[in-house]
Parts: sequence; structure tokens; C-alpha cells
Amino acid sequence: MSHASPRPMESSASSDTTPALLELEHVTKRFGGLPAVDDLSFAVREGEVLGIIGPNGAGKSTVIGLIGGAIAPTSGSVRFAGRDVGRLSPHQRAHLGIARTFQITQPFVGLDVRENVIVGALFNGKGMSRAEAMRVADEVLERTHLAAKARLKGDELTVADCKRLEMARALAMQPRLLLLDEVMAGLVPSEVELAVRLIREINHSGVTVVVIEHIMKAIQGVSDRVLVMHFGRKIAEGSPQDVLSNQRVIEAYLGERYARMRRESAADTGLAPSDTMASGEGEDA
Ligand code: ADP
Ligand code: MG
Repeated sequence: MSHASPRPMESSASSDTTPALLELEHVTKRFGGLPAVDDLSFAVREGEVLGIIGPNGAGKSTVIGLIGGAIAPTSGSVRFAGRDVGRLSPHQRAHLGIARTFQITQPFVGLDVRENVIVGALFNGKGMSRAEAMRVADEVLERTHLAAKARLKGDELTVADCKRLEMARALAMQPRLLLLDEVMAGLVPSEVELAVRLIREINHSGVTVVVIEHIMKAIQGVSDRVLVMHFGRKIAEGSPQDVLSNQRVIEAYLGERYARMRRESAADTGLAPSDTMASGEGEDA
């Protein structure tokens, strides 16, 4: 794959004729009877960036777990690259090219940042030598702006650095599909901008991405398509522009407060008056 060949945001690298890399069909996951994910179906084409938004508790992280293999579906199928992966372990799925980050960051605390990333590289199933894994790790540390912190231990990191480390570990696995669960939470706007640029670069290098995020500017900046979840279900799906101006989404998800603020700042681009979506605030859950 060629690196850094920019494409216009609207004309996605993938078209409707590109086969799906990832397909969820009628996937349900119940925890003790309550559905966290409820009859959810969607597909992601190779080369695409799909953004998933929705209030806290909507089931977004559960979706990531279902794709990555940490969570087994109660029913329904998860297909990746044409095969049913629904019963494969996270390890087996990593070998197929699926890498994820965790919303609650989980660095190996005894290891420093570089060692954490090397573990990611060694985990990618390509049978890398230790020397090769170190080379990959150093390259990823540069890309994720962590090189200067390579020697810090996992428990010496700021929240923002933990997020970067999550991303770096996943990237070191050289995935075909990258699943990002709120990697921008806690970042200041300039850091968000860097993260958005990084995700776009990763995508341009050939990686398909599913990104969960509350920061609307970030979702708009990276997503070819946006899916909205509410109570485990899909309530909208489409271009970022269409989805974020969808009245049902605005009211069901963003809440009354957002709808009112949006009306009051009607002259803007149709975006949130604030950068960050109220995570569940103001909705009727
Ligand atoms: P989101 O990431 O959109 O905030 P989650 O996928 O984390 O939502 O959670 C969806 C729902 O499933 C929530 O009601 C949550 O409490 C519940 N849930 C998630 N994981 C578990 C679990 N391991 N055991 C029991 N309930 C869970
Ligand atoms: Mg979550």
C-alpha cells in the first residue's frame, strides 16, 4: 500500500462495490438478560473509516469487544475477511489482522512504553524477530509522538499518554482492521488534531478503521460514515453530515440541551456549538 496519498474526505477510498471487510449480522449480546447490543447489523468496507457514536451505555464498547473477540455474541454472526470469526479468540483474531484499543487503558505496568509497544509487535502473528519488533515499535513511537517517553513505565504516564500508548500498541500489530475506543478522551484540542491526523494517515496507509469517539469534530474529521447507537440498537447510519443533522439523532441522542444550543447557533456549520458531545447528558435514559 502506498503511504500518505491524500484523498478528499468525501470521495472515500471504498465505494459501494468494495466488498465488506467486516460484517455484523443480527448480533445480540446480553449481559444477565439485558441486551447491551440488540440485533445489530452493519458492514465496514475495506479502506473505510466508520465512526460509531452514542450515549454512555449505548453498547459501543461491547461492539468493539464483539469484533475483537473479548466478548462472544449471544446470537448473530461476526464475519471478517469473508470468514465467521464469532467464536475465535482475541489472539486468533489478532493474527487475522484485527487490533483494538481499550477505553480503560491497560498498559503492562512493569514494562516501559517501548517494551509495551514491542509486545504489540510480537503479538501480530507475523512471526517477527525481536529485532524486527523493536524496529516496528520505534517507528510507531515516532508516529504516535511517544518517542520521548519511550523509557517511562506504564504507571508513570498521563491519561493522554496512556491513550497514545493504547494506539501505539495496536498499530505495532500492523492490523488490517483497527478498532479505536475513545482514544481521544482527555486530550486537549491540539492533541485531538494530532490524533485525527494520525488516524487519517493510518487509514491512508491501507488500514480499515472503526472509531468510537465523543468529540464531534474528531468524528467528522475522520469518518467516511457514522453509525449511531442507542440502547444497543442502530438508530441512524450515513454520512457524518447527514447523521449529525438528523433530527432523531439530535433529540434521542444529543438531547434537548444540544438541540436547543444548536438552534441558538444556527449560523454555524451544522455542528455542535461545543466540541464535545454531552456523553449521555440531557438524554432521557
Ligand atoms: P458504551 O461503550 O456505549 O458506553 P458499553 O458497551 O460499555 O456502552 O455498555 C453497554 C451496556 O452493557 C451498559 O448498560 C453496560 O452497563 C452493560 N455492560 C457492558 N459490559 C458489561 C459486562 N461485562 N457485564 C455486565 N454488563 C455490561
Ligand atoms: Mg464505551
